[in-house]
Amino acid sequence: MTQPPVPSGSVYSGPVFEMARAQFQVIADHLEIPADERDRLLYPKRAITVSCPIHTDDGRGAVFHGYRVQHHLTLGPTKGGTRYAPNLEIGEVAALAIWMSWKCALAGLPYGGAKGGIALDPRALSRHELESVSRRYMQEMIPFVGPHTDVMAPDMGTNEQVMAWFMDTYSMHHGRTVTEIVTGKPVDCGGTAGRREATGRGVAHLIGRAFDRLGIAPSGATAIVQGFGNVGSYAAEALAARGVKLVGVSDHTACYYDPRGLDVPALLRHAAAHGVLAGFSNERAADPATLLTQPCDVLVPAAVERVIDADMAARLRCRVLAEAANGPTTPEADLVLAGRPEIFVIPDILCNSGGVIVSYFEWVQDLQQFFWDETEVTNRLYRLLDRAFGQVMARVTAERVAHRTAAMAIGVEKVRAAKNLRGLFP
Ligand code: NAD
Repeated sequence: MTQPPVPSGSVYSGPVFEMARAQFQVIADHLEIPADERDRLLYPKRAITVSCPIHTDDGRGAVFHGYRVQHHLTLGPTKGGTRYAPNLEIGEVAALAIWMSWKCALAGLPYGGAKGGIALDPRALSRHELESVSRRYMQEMIPFVGPHTDVMAPDMGTNEQVMAWFMDTYSMHHGRTVTEIVTGKPVDCGGTAGRREATGRGVAHLIGRAFDRLGIAPSGATAIVQGFGNVGSYAAEALAARGVKLVGVSDHTACYYDPRGLDVPALLRHAAAHGVLAGFSNERAADPATLLTQPCDVLVPAAVERVIDADMAARLRCRVLAEAANGPTTPEADLVLAGRPEIFVIPDILCNSGGVIVSYFEWVQDLQQFFWDETEVTNRLYRLLDRAFGQVMARVTAERVAHRTAAMAIGVEKVRAAKNLRGLFP
């Protein structure tokens, strides 16, 4: 894989951005996109960096650095999550924004991709400090976001409460309540039923589709889930509801493995009470370095990027790799997986798209002030996921390509078609 150089003056760098670039290169080659069109499709339209000063609880001050990257504005407003992580960099944020674009296009949503975040460890701040920095971040972003410009959502390290603070800050500035500025809000202030569970539920639904194709009965099938936050915990719960046995689970504090099956409701109660998995069980403690290579029917990475490299890909012992996290598999691992057709990959831009699909439903309901019940939300979610899954599988069959190539090709093609129809302004 030979990568063209990053254009001079670009602010984007780092391993995650390089990964998004390498993946795009594969698709651009597959679609035979002319060289002069590629940068226009790949490089973000806008990147905003802000400094967020706050008063800390000890009476001193601190400054946190925040980012927002808006990838393209061709199909509508941009849409994407907000990540709080200690080592967050603009290249990582840009990569996540780019993946959001292909994801939204694949799902048929009228959005470009965006992503944002603040370089901080949310666990190291008090609630008051977290509220201060969240409000300051939104305040700094007000000139650049809006319900028809760029709509924020939660991601790693943020949650419904942070979205409520964002919405309140934006609303105070505008002098009226603007619920449609963020999604993933609490239901009690304009959120939608089913958004909290949507990403994990969608992951489990698509695993069911993969099992159908492979002839695996969910009841008694085994799963390993890495990451037990919003996505991992609801995916585990939804899999357990389908009869799938969770044999391994981890978060950044602990790792457990038991081939007889772990008690999912007890894990959920423990995580709700303590915020982390640490302290759940001494006898089931396992080595996180070997968790992903234990045998299972479905492996669900639901934590951070780049956990499956080429070496790990060669050692996987799952039948389905369900990429609930964004970017868990490196391009080098993809080359290894190309030689392992016995592993059915549900690529991230399909696998975790339930989150942005229900965020879209939340935005539509907020704009109309007309709310649906949870059954309607979930049924509509499954319908859109089934459509995208069907399109990806049809493309895999027609072009004999990897699942990721098929999914990304559909997304990139839609964005490219819209750009070419609209033309270049001025
Ligand atoms: P979260 O902050 O709620 O949870 C993250 C989890 O990952 C935590 O349990 C944390 O302990 C764990 N973790 C972190 N580092 C780890 C490590 N090295 N090993 C094992 N576990 C580790 O975040 P989330 O919202 O669940 O997001 C998880 C992933 O899913 C991210 O890649 C995110 O971009 C993606 N995603 C989230 C949504 C959403 O709706 N929240 C939607 C689409 C994609």
